[in-house]
Amino acid sequence: NSFCTLLVCVDPRSSLLSMALAAPSSSVATSAAFSRDGGSMRRATNSEMRAPPQEVPFVDAVPDDLQCGICFSAAVDPVVTEECGHLYCRDCILTALDRKKECPIDRLPLTVNDIRKDVRALRKIQSLTVQCYNHKQGCSWVGAYSDLDRHADRCELATVKCPFSVHGCEAVVSRKTLPEHMSTNMNAHLLLVCQVTTRLADENVMLQQELDILQREDMRFVWVITNFEAKRGPVYSRKFVARGLQWYLGIDFEGPEKHAGVYLFAEGHAKRVDFKLILFNADAARDKVHIVNDWAADYKGKGWGPLKFIDRSNLSSSGFIVSGCVRIGVEIDADPFE
Ligand SMILES: [Zn+2]
Ligand SMILES: [Zn+2]
Ligand SMILES: [Zn+2]
Ligand SMILES: [Zn+2]
Repeated sequence: NSFCTLLVCVDPRSSLLSMALAAPSSSVATSAAFSRDGGSMRRATNSEMRAPPQEVPFVDAVPDDLQCGICFSAAVDPVVTEECGHLYCRDCILTALDRKKECPIDRLPLTVNDIRKDVRALRKIQSLTVQCYNHKQGCSWVGAYSDLDRHADRCELATVKCPFSVHGCEAVVSRKTLPEHMSTNMNAHLLLVCQVTTRLADENVMLQQELDILQREDMRFVWVITNFEAKRGPVYSRKFVARGLQWYLGIDFEGPEKHAGVYLFAEGHAKRVDFKLILFNADAARDKVHIVNDWAADYKGKGWGPLKFIDRSNLSSSGFIVSGCVRIGVEIDADPFE
């Protein structure tokens, strides 16, 4: 299952990769291979294309007494000055006061302590009549400004991204035409997914080979466990070779007090060995290290390791989970024995 184990961490921002790239043994050639297509796995968090601040489409001109004295639009989060009663957007006046402690309209002395929220102006602005943001696309909705966002979230003519845009579909469609786009572009979407899958498989092979080379130098095997906090039963790493013998790691989640044990298993032989386990932290200075040099004789041919190596109660907050992954290293630099 090592294919899936590594997929999530191919993202160039993950520290696994920066680790790999920063390591002295990573050659220029392989580093370049990693950065190729580096941005392709970025995931959109939202399929909605809500444009950044747009001009509010008021039907009538905004009355003078509701306009900000600096930007002349309907005041956003309106505040009024105590002494001279001038109305501004909170952001506009705070920015102006940073430069000069005076009211921009009449130059009277003014500080942040002399302004207060203007609830009446806010209420009036909220009740002004607006059109939909998409009126130029044909939406005929008209209503109070206070209802605009709620309408925009449901507007049939709002522009949405195709769900396959994360895989490269560039279609810009409205909420209303999305179902039709989906049904008429099934094949194109499938093709996009196929291409992504092929590229991911490719990147995965490159990453594994990079790791193999790093491990050869260090006598260190690195195991990346994705989606760690959702794991329940025991999980096992892929096999690796150290000191001419095959080994693999296993995690047992039945450890006491929300701990998890990490064990080294011998594969195809019954040798034992002293080894070092490393639980990598986002902050390398806080990596957790455990030396195992007491492999019991009656555990020959079975897994051996620290019962409480991973404290699962505060993994994320303590920096041991990065992009959902837990990273465990094992170093074997002593000779195996009977
Ligand atoms: Zn303003
Ligand atoms: Zn003033
Ligand atoms: Zn609309
Ligand atoms: Zn599409």
